[in-house]
This record gives sequence, structure tokens and C-alpha cells, in this order.
Amino acid sequence: MNIALIAHDQKKEDMVQFATAYQHILEQHSLFATGTTGTKITEATGLSLHRFQSGPLGGDQQIGAYVAQNDMDVILFFRDPLTAQPHEPDVSALMRLCDVYQIPLATNLAAAEIMVRAIEHGDFHWREIIHKKKQQG
Ligand code: PGA
Repeated sequence: MNIALIAHDQKKEDMVQFATAYQHILEQHSLFATGTTGTKITEATGLSLHRFQSGPLGGDQQIGAYVAQNDMDVILFFRDPLTAQPHEPDVSALMRLCDVYQIPLATNLAAAEIMVRAIEHGDFHWREIIHKKKQQG
């Protein structure tokens, strides 16, 4: 599955700890991340992932483009609700697209932990069915 990881600055340490704790699950999937989040995860865990632009420079929109093509399966987005973000419109747009395409979206650590365990249990197998249907046209 294609999994996107994003963390606002105040949540990056949480993301690093999360990625470390669940590395054994995450490494079985194709990982994507916004720029700085991706760098920190890779430095801490060695996980290989595709890095988009930094969030404020368009990374959220790049992930949104994957969602719009139905190519992103899960988004784990550790948002900081207490700090104004210069790219708030991009954040809102990404969350909106997740709702448009029914893409599972966790916006905090607690939800992400439930979601990553659901991934491990195969609860998102339906996403693979969608991918197969898409390939068949
Ligand atoms: P970053 O972007 O990983 O490049 O910091 C995340 C964000 O702020 O949306």
C-alpha cells in the first residue's frame, strides 16, 4: 500500500518515535513523506521513502495529487492544531480530497496507531481491490 507521512514541526518528534515503533509494519509498504518529515524519518530509522517537497513548498499538494488519482491508500498526518501554518489552505485541501476519495486519514498520533495496526491486520485490503479495478480500466 502507498502510505503518506506528514508531520508539522511541533509533531516531528512524535512522528520519528511513531515510525521507529512501527518500522516493522511501515517497511512492508511504499512510503511517501513531505520533505523535512521524510528526512527525519529516514535519518532515525533508515526507512526508504519517496520525499516530496516540504509541506509549505507544495508537498501537501503533491500528496493531494496522488489522492486525486486514487493512488494514495492511507495518510498519517500529525497536525499541530496550536500553531498557525503558512500553508493552511494546502492542509485543508488535502483533508478535503481524502474525504472526496474516502482515503483513510489520521490527523494525530492516537489515530495513526490504530490505523497502522489496521494496516498490519489487512483491514485496508479493499484498497488493493480498488487498485486492481483501476488497472483493469
Ligand atoms: P515538512 O512539511 O515535512 O516538509 O516539514 C510538513 C508540513 O508542514 O506540512
